[in-house]
Formats: sequence, structure tokens, C-alpha cells
Amino acid sequence: MENEHFDAVVVGSGFGGSVATYRLAEAGMRVCLLERGQAYPPDAYPRTPKAMQGALWDPSAGGYGMFDLWSFDGLEALVASALGGGSIIYANVLLRKDEHWFVNEDPHGTGHTPWPVSRADLDPHYDAVEAMMNVQRYPTEHAPYDQTPKTNAFHAAADQLGLDWSRPPLAVTFANEGEDPALGEPIEERWPNLHGRTRTTCRLCAECDVGCNYGSKNTLDFNYLSAAQHEGADIRTLHEVRTLAPQTGGGYRIRYVQHDLEREGDSFDTRSLPLQTMTADRLILSAGTLGSTFLLLKNRSAFPNLSNALGTRFCGNGDLLGFVLNARENGTHRMLDPNYGPVITSTIRVGDALDGGDATGRGFYIQDAGYPAFMSWIVEASNVFGSLRRFIRFLRHTLLARIQGDTNLSAELQHLLGGDLSASAMPLLGMGRDRPNGVFELQDNGRLNTNWAMQGSKDYFDRLKRTMEALADAMGGDFVVNPTWLLKRVITVHPLGGCPMGRTASEGVVDAHGEAFGHPDLYVADGSILPGPVGPNPSLTIAALADRIADRILAEPSGA
Ligand SMILES: Cc1cc2nc3c(=O)[nH]c(=O)nc-3n(C[C@H](O)[C@H](O)[C@H](O)COP(=O)(O)OP(=O)(O)OC[C@H]3O[C@@H](n4cnc5c(N)ncnc54)[C@H](O)[C@@H]3O)c2cc1C
Repeated sequence: MENEHFDAVVVGSGFGGSVATYRLAEAGMRVCLLERGQAYPPDAYPRTPKAMQGALWDPSAGGYGMFDLWSFDGLEALVASALGGGSIIYANVLLRKDEHWFVNEDPHGTGHTPWPVSRADLDPHYDAVEAMMNVQRYPTEHAPYDQTPKTNAFHAAADQLGLDWSRPPLAVTFANEGEDPALGEPIEERWPNLHGRTRTTCRLCAECDVGCNYGSKNTLDFNYLSAAQHEGADIRTLHEVRTLAPQTGGGYRIRYVQHDLEREGDSFDTRSLPLQTMTADRLILSAGTLGSTFLLLKNRSAFPNLSNALGTRFCGNGDLLGFVLNARENGTHRMLDPNYGPVITSTIRVGDALDGGDATGRGFYIQDAGYPAFMSWIVEASNVFGSLRRFIRFLRHTLLARIQGDTNLSAELQHLLGGDLSASAMPLLGMGRDRPNGVFELQDNGRLNTNWAMQGSKDYFDRLKRTMEALADAMGGDFVVNPTWLLKRVITVHPLGGCPMGRTASEGVVDAHGEAFGHPDLYVADGSILPGPVGPNPSLTIAALADRIADRILAEPSGA
């Protein structure tokens, strides 16, 4: 087959890739988007244990699913593989990076400035992305949203501790424009979505992180990608990019494999898949922090001018997961009901020395979280002693009822089911300004690894954990930190860095407009270009940067 050629090829369809694809297609460029994962229309998300088994991404083991879990030396990282990237499994929070947090952040104190952009540079792009993603705040001014237990408990705990609580913008449709919020109403869309399906407003089922089967989340497939397709972009799923190289005379050669689920089956050496080739005047890498860094490290020999900063400035955006357990009020369990609401409804912001005033230390955010109802069954079942105690009580009472001639067992069954443990719990999600001092490299076996270690940001993590403990206490509960903490490890869902922006090639891999130093027309537009933590959830900043990068691409002819 003859090689295909495009004005621009975009690799990966997350926040960076979707924005770039739309903006370039809208401007009339011939754009091809290559995404390794699958498309997920409403109702396609897995729910049963068997279906969840297939929800992981590892094609050589028959996994073509949306979760991609990595384990590095000092932390675990969860990312997505799907049309729409992380938006498919994310918790919808779209917060701007704090103005004073765009700063010097050199781990060795030599004082260079890795953030080559400011809040003022990004504000117009934040505006554009928020409008496109139709952000809405959790509508607590209306019933039944005002009765969300975890939101109210979290808010009250914040007030008790004097912490700054607010409802962040969420990419979720609670209400159609000009209407009051309502559960399960058909969503009026601005353009037909690429799945050709009807979406409905949020039903508060807390399933955001396992994919929304109602299409209530404003994920990238429903906005940027649907609009890009409408503008003529060629969007291809199950296309995994393997190699990249500059071409003599300009432009780039991209080699990829096309997955075929039926042919590959449960166990298949995907290295044997035939490589196909396409070329482009401009190449935009948006395969995510792990994906883009991996691709550039793997293909480094083809890019002799790439900066030595490749692989540097990695961090997990200060992520720390904790749990409130056994919340109690007036001697009984306090219902936090983590299964009710979107996964995140509200946030606490704790200031940073950079903010001026009384604040000290490195700033962070803590958000209330939830999880789907099926997780509550798992929580109850995993309480082996509690379940056994209830089962023995059930047998005893059933026997007694038989002896006494009571033929109704409803009350006994009611007690057997339990429920207090899972209903009086809720996760807390912390994130903020940890130190971006991790370096990625390829191991001898060709796998990606990073030397990032929690100890490098110990003060930050200790302060964040203490605030979580105080919040749990204020809710009448115990606090349990994610168990990997004991092994000095964290779990991040916000990996950042690896191809950092900088003012010069000694500082970064790409410039402040995402273009690689030494390789014109090669752009990186995703979380890998962040030279340090965002602080709050990073997707809006990634998308805003991609929007700014698109401006630059459109302003410059290729080869300039
Ligand atoms: C459970 C969870 C909850 C989260 N909640 C929030 C939240 O509330 N707010 C927030 O701001 N962030 C949240 N995040 C983080 C957010 O998802 C990421 O920060 C964001 O998606 C990163 O965007 P990106 O463009 O860098 O990459 P991604 O969105 O990760 O997209 C990269 C894409 O590239 C594709 N790809 C990778 N390699 C290749 C290849 N070789 N060939 C072709 N395609 C490839 C991947 O399949 C993926 O689709 C959450 C993440 C998780 C896991």
C-alpha cells in the first residue's frame, strides 16, 4: 500500500491530542489522529468481574481495555488507553493552575525557571477549553443534589477546620442550558456525537472512574473529537504507534501497528504485527506523559538533536490517596454514602508559601471522592470478621424464628446484608506541589522506569497526610492512608513531565509552544511537557497548553 501523507499526524487522543486534532482540522489541515485504544460509546463500559478482567491494556496478554497500570521503582501510575484518553476514566475536575504556582522549581536550588508560561498566557486558552467542555459546578443549590452526604460532610469538616472549600468546575452535564438540573434527562448536544448515541444527564451513580454508561460526562469523544470528526479529521482507533523518525528534507515518518482483536486473541506476540507507515509535515506527540516519553526515549537515536532534558522533571502531581473509615455521629455510623454523586463534587485548597500572606510550605488540594455501588459490595465482603459475625447471628436468629413459629425472615436478612462499613467510608484525593525530580529511562529490557521517590517530597506529603487525618477526624471517622505508603510508595493518576517545556534546550525538550528544540515541526502536547506539578488536577492545564500550541502551529508554515 502506498504511504499516506497528512499535514499533521497526532499520536494519542487525550487532553493534548484531542484539542490539537480539533484545532488543526478546524483550520482546514488534513489531520490524522492515531489512538491505540478503543472507542467507548455509552453502555460499552465494563461492569461485571469478567468484563473488568478485559478492561486492562496489555495487547500481548489479550488486554485491549481502558486502564493501563504501571509500576515504577517508587510509585504506581494509572493512565488510560481509549479514544478520549484519560477523560474516559477521569473524575471530571477542570481547575486552573494557581497564578502564583507558575514558578521556579529547581530541585537543586540553582534557580532556573522551568515554567516558561504564565497564568496570563494560559487564561484565554483555559476559557476556550472550559467553553468547549461545557463545565458545570455540582448544583448543591438544588434538590436532591443538596442532600449529597459526602459533599455535606466534607464541607462541614472543612468549615470546622477553617479550610478553604469550594465546588470546582466539572465536565459533567447536570443540566441542559437554561434549565434546572435533573437526573437522567436527554442531553441537548451542540453537535451530533461521533458515537451517534443519546446521552443523559448525571444520575449520581459515582461510576465516573469506570466510564459513564449514560454519557453524562463531557468526555473528549463527545466534544473535541466529535467536532474534529465533523471538521474532517481522520480518527483511527486501535492504531498503536511504534517508531518515529524525521525525514530528509522535512516532515516525519510514523510507523504503527493496527490491532485486530479477533485475530490477536488472548495471547499473541504483538511484536510480530506488520508495521505500516504514514508521513506528515508536522508530528504532534500526545501519547501522555508515559507514552510520549517512552516513544521519544525508544526512538532517540533517530532524533540526534533532542535535548538531554528528555526523561527529566517527572512527578505524580503530589497524588496521595486516603480513606475515611467508620465515620460516626452520636454513637452510630454516619452515612457518607460514597456511591451517591459524581466521583468528585468539591475541593479544599491549602495555600502555599508562594501565595504570600500567612501560608507556608507547598500547597495542595484535597477532594471528596466516591466509587460505584459494586465497590461497596466488595468492601462489605472483604470485612471477613464482620461478615462472619453477621452470618452466625443470621443462623441463630433464623433458628430461633423457626422455633418461635415466626415465618418472616426479612429483618434477619436485612441485618445479614450489612452496609454500615461501606456507607460510612469515603476516599480522599490529595494532590499538589511535590518535587518534579524523577528521571525516566529505559531499562535493559526496553521497559520504562523512573527513579522518582516519595522521600524527595517528604515535607509536602507529611503535611498533606496530616490535613487528611484532621478532615477524617472532623467527620467522626478514622483515617487510613493508601497501604503502599508503608512501603514509601504512592499511587498517581496524574503522572507529569518527561518531555518538559523550557526556555532553552538545556532546560527543556520543547519550547514554550510545545515545539522540540532541534527538530522543527515536532511538537509534544500532553502531560509530559509540564516542567513541574500543576498542583490541582492537571487536565485543564494540559488542554489549555495544547490549545496554545495549536495557535503556534497554525501561525507557522511547516519547515519554518
Ligand atoms: C482515575 C483517574 C481520575 C482522574 N481524574 C482527573 C480529574 O478529575 N481531573 C483531571 O484534571 N485529571 C484527572 N485525571 C488525570 C487525567 O486523566 C490525565 O492528567 C490526562 O488524561 C492526561 O492527558 P494527556 O493528554 O497527557 O494524556 P492521556 O489523556 O493519557 O492520553 C494519552 C493517549 O495516548 C494514547 N497512546 C499512548 N501511547 C500510544 C501509542 N504508542 N500510539 C497511539 N496512542 C497512544 C493512550 O491510549 C491515550 O489515549 C484522572 C486520571 C485517572 C486515571
